[in-house]
Amino acid sequence: VRESRTEEGAPRRARPDPVASGLGGFAPGGPTSLLRPEERRTLRAVCDALAPAAFLTAPAQGESTPAASDLGVDRWIEAALASVMSFREAKAFRRLLRSLDDRLANLLLSGRPVRFRSLTSAGQTKYLQQWRDSRLASKRSGFQSLKRLVGFLYYAVPGPEGVNPSWAALGYPGEVPAASPSGSDGLSVSSIEPDRPLSLEAEVCVIGSGAGGSVVASELGQAGIDVVLVEAGEQPEPGSLVPNELAMTQRLYDAAGLFATRDLSVQLLGARCAGGGTFVNWMTCLRPPAPVLREWEGEHGIRGLTGPEFAQDVDEVWRALGVNDQESQRNPNNEVIWRGCRALGYRYGLDYDTIARNAVGCRARCDFCGFGCRFGCKRSTPLNYLARARASGVRMLFRTEAVRLESSGSRVTGVQAVHRSSRGASFPVQIRARAIVAAGGAVQTPALLLRSGFRTRGVGRSLRLHPTTAVSGEFAHDIRPWAGPPQTVVVRRFLDLEGSGTGFWIEAAPAHPGLFAMSLPWTNGLEHHRWMRERYRRSSATIVLLRDPGAGTVRIDREGRPLVDYALTASGRALMIRGIQETGRILAAAGARSLGTLHADRVEVRAMGETWTNAELTAFFDAVSARSLGSNRILLFSAHFTGSCPMGAEARKAPVDPSGALRDAEGLFVADGSVFPSAPAVNPMITIMAMARRAARSILAYLRPRA
Ligand SMILES: Cc1cc2nc3c(=O)[nH]c(=O)nc-3n(C[C@H](O)[C@H](O)[C@H](O)COP(=O)(O)OP(=O)(O)OC[C@H]3O[C@@H](n4cnc5c(N)ncnc54)[C@H](O)[C@@H]3O)c2cc1C
Repeated sequence: VRESRTEEGAPRRARPDPVASGLGGFAPGGPTSLLRPEERRTLRAVCDALAPAAFLTAPAQGESTPAASDLGVDRWIEAALASVMSFREAKAFRRLLRSLDDRLANLLLSGRPVRFRSLTSAGQTKYLQQWRDSRLASKRSGFQSLKRLVGFLYYAVPGPEGVNPSWAALGYPGEVPAASPSGSDGLSVSSIEPDRPLSLEAEVCVIGSGAGGSVVASELGQAGIDVVLVEAGEQPEPGSLVPNELAMTQRLYDAAGLFATRDLSVQLLGARCAGGGTFVNWMTCLRPPAPVLREWEGEHGIRGLTGPEFAQDVDEVWRALGVNDQESQRNPNNEVIWRGCRALGYRYGLDYDTIARNAVGCRARCDFCGFGCRFGCKRSTPLNYLARARASGVRMLFRTEAVRLESSGSRVTGVQAVHRSSRGASFPVQIRARAIVAAGGAVQTPALLLRSGFRTRGVGRSLRLHPTTAVSGEFAHDIRPWAGPPQTVVVRRFLDLEGSGTGFWIEAAPAHPGLFAMSLPWTNGLEHHRWMRERYRRSSATIVLLRDPGAGTVRIDREGRPLVDYALTASGRALMIRGIQETGRILAAAGARSLGTLHADRVEVRAMGETWTNAELTAFFDAVSARSLGSNRILLFSAHFTGSCPMGAEARKAPVDPSGALRDAEGLFVADGSVFPSAPAVNPMITIMAMARRAARSILAYLRPRA
């Protein structure tokens, strides 16, 4: 990233090469400073209004808590602006800071010619509340951008002693010096580490080492094909994973964990490391549902999905990942779902179930599954498919991002990539190949295709997200929602409501303090502090995931980075309301004392007695129905990106044909979640991997037509 100066004299980031942010990571003290002094002062004031210094009383009697700026939260945000956010995002963020402290902008936006920094602390709180609830979508998203960053960083950054000063009060142990890891915590296969520009030739270049890419690379490698695999993220060295939410989010997640839809209405969690999503995910293994496979075969013409060959693909993936239900211990966060379902008389095995997981020898030893497994117990693809690929001669380059594809006419001929060395130097890498497999995930794959000029109809047009929100039940006992195996219980009762093919399912989510605090609705700084200190450890993080009929889009900005848009349709909103209500019903039946949602204007209903009365539950349902689900009126998440380059028999509807090849291109295949013709209605890893095995057969047939 080159530096230049703006007219105002503030350093400005020159437009970088059209690749995403490279290796995530930001910390104060870097060389690049983007903000002008005035902007910096406003940022500091907003941080401290959102998370003020406070002297808290019971139960943490006499405890004082630092202001966000005492922890350097403002400087962390500035660092994120400089190194992680896109040019467009950083520009918009600076504009937001300027408008907060500009009388004219405030007059136009709110009818009052105020300056944020001149307001009293009560005035600043009111000002922020007005932005949170504004009728203007831009004000709501402006509020969310600040609130989420401050919420996350306040509870994640290290204090002067190297430990976040709030953790003790939360009851969060932080970096427990756990028994030293006994297994390998990553892939220890050799990779190519260029120290100068590099040119390679191969039969196939696979882009991305996640669920799809690692399977394809392994299958082709074992069939004797000469494969080069490039992966944008790093391959963590054995022993280098640390039990720390901030450090690992930065190292292993796309855009250092700061990725979201353009309007910020959906926070997007995607991986950027060896193994992709399989390395950081929560190990829920669910087979593709039969009705979904029938739909993909019947309505989209993808033959064979209901037959024995594909069933074998699923079985083989299941075996390779070591999926079992011996490691599905129920921590309190999962136990409350289980207890609620039992209390409601739901049928075990039909309405709710134990989740099988790809964990072997885990024994619930630590609380950091979402950040790679230090004990080598999570059977992510570095330990199976990538290891096999390497053993069969596949050459691998990590920290190497495919920037664009090269082609001659409609035939793809190679990949232009950039390798970033561990010392921070960058080198161009060029790979010439007969076939290219795009497996960067359903957000990055369409972005790569679009910036390479493949604008085949439908690329990026039908992104499916399984939009997700959380309901928290507060219990009398500790839940410690960060601790233990992340997901071991699933509620499937509502997956196919009235035979519509749409519905929702319910699971637990592991929530470390940063993630929980950024999600927790903000009323005022003091209350947010109190909530975290007094209630976080007793709250469940229970999520509802929709198979909604809607779809979003992936386009690219001027830097070539993905721009994602997604809005719930009317029926998606109806499903979300029902999903929140049913989740609340389960948590209430499990003994929650209160129920809360992630609406910006939080719904919170408390039971007065030991059990919920009908009136109390109805009050929760009614409040949920009455809230808007418009953009940034509720926090939505997604970690399930699929469908952005759908596969299908009809060229009019599907840019990828049933063999996995991109139409209008020769030698270009897509083998990741992008190809799903509709949302899979289960956590997608197993389905993506099975589909990738199927794609590998087509690629082999393309390369060796007579074999
Ligand atoms: C926190 C979290 C929890 C999850 N939990 C579960 C779960 O429990 N069960 C489940 O079934 N699913 C889960 N998922 C989802 C699942 O992991 C993903 O759906 C799946 O990994 C997606 O597979 P993919 O091949 O499409 O992409 P990914 O696995 O995301 O792989 C894409 C890879 O490509 C790389 N890449 C992208 N662009 C480029 C480029 N231009 N050049 C080079 N490399 C590139 C990325 O760095 C990444 O490593 C979870 C996901 C997350 C983030």
